Amino acid sequence: MVSRESRRAEILEGRQIAEQIKQEVAEEVTRLQSERGLKPCLAAILVGDDDASAVYVRNKISACAEVGIQSAHHALPASTTTEELLRLIDDLNRRDEVDGILVQLPLPEQIDEAAIIEAVEPTKDVDGFHPTNVGLLAMGRPRFVPCTPAGIIELLEQNEIEIAGAGACVVGRSQIVGRPVASLLLQRHATVTICHSRTHDLPSVTRQADILVAAIGRGGFIRGDYIKPGATVIDVGVNQITDSNEARSLFGDEAQQRIDAIAKRGYTLVGDVHPAEADRVAGRRSPVPGGVGLLTVAMLMRNTLQAAKWRRGV
Ligand code: NAP
Repeated sequence: MVSRESRRAEILEGRQIAEQIKQEVAEEVTRLQSERGLKPCLAAILVGDDDASAVYVRNKISACAEVGIQSAHHALPASTTTEELLRLIDDLNRRDEVDGILVQLPLPEQIDEAAIIEAVEPTKDVDGFHPTNVGLLAMGRPRFVPCTPAGIIELLEQNEIEIAGAGACVVGRSQIVGRPVASLLLQRHATVTICHSRTHDLPSVTRQADILVAAIGRGGFIRGDYIKPGATVIDVGVNQITDSNEARSLFGDEAQQRIDAIAKRGYTLVGDVHPAEADRVAGRRSPVPGGVGLLTVAMLMRNTLQAAKWRRGV
């Protein structure tokens, strides 16, 4: 018999599923081009010089190249005004060859983020953040599903984790992760609880969940006692840690590898879940990196292909 101390959660790797999705997108892009002469195109906008945002945009652009989607990268200075950004979006909205528009968030604080999100033409809104697309999702008639929540569902479904009837708890209520993933889980008939910073006695709520989604933005926040034994834990968080002692307490068997990463590049990534503790309690856990993040990019490719097909009546 395996003791609770030595039990190790199954790791829900995102790589293979993400590769499979990109492969399917690539095949469809090739078909569109050969049969109809169409090449989907994504315009990505990065404002300012936030390192993490630059990495995310670079990954998205390189995924486009991998699957044969054309891309245009618009890098704007941190001093860009709302009006300047609105002008660029207006131009991209009008250009027929542009199928998808992605504005990397967060934006510098002088920019009115809501105005920018609302300015993107809903049929090109491959991030699914425009109120029209948010409304459609909330009504259970999704058009563009935000990429990270869509990736979470893909990870659950591809691993044949039963959602219907399951108790699902989402910690975090952001527009880009918490709320839409709660909506998607509800549409798949989970019994959904949404938690946030005002939730009383959080562990007693999260411990009820068969599926626990952590989208908080605080490294290693979900400890072993927050998790129901055997639960599936989806870790959305991406947090940098720079302290070797912290890495030692978080990563168990993997600690040395992470400490080496800190020595080499100054940091390592941890999710919102404490991996070593979670692995002793959970049945399954998605890793950081290598889990939800990879799926997010793959779903963006799928959404961009879908936008191209819808816009051109394919
Ligand atoms: P966010 O907008 O900052 O939202 C964080 C949520 O966590 C809020 O709803 C907040 O509650 C809640 N929260 C904060 N502290 C809490 C606490 N002590 N107890 C309970 N709830 C608490 O963050 P986000 O954009 O959703 O992102 C969450 C994490 O996911 C970040 O680490 C981000 O980097 C990562 N992320 C990853 C991907 C990916 O592709 N892998 C994509 C997007 C985001 P209140 O609403 O009450 O403030």
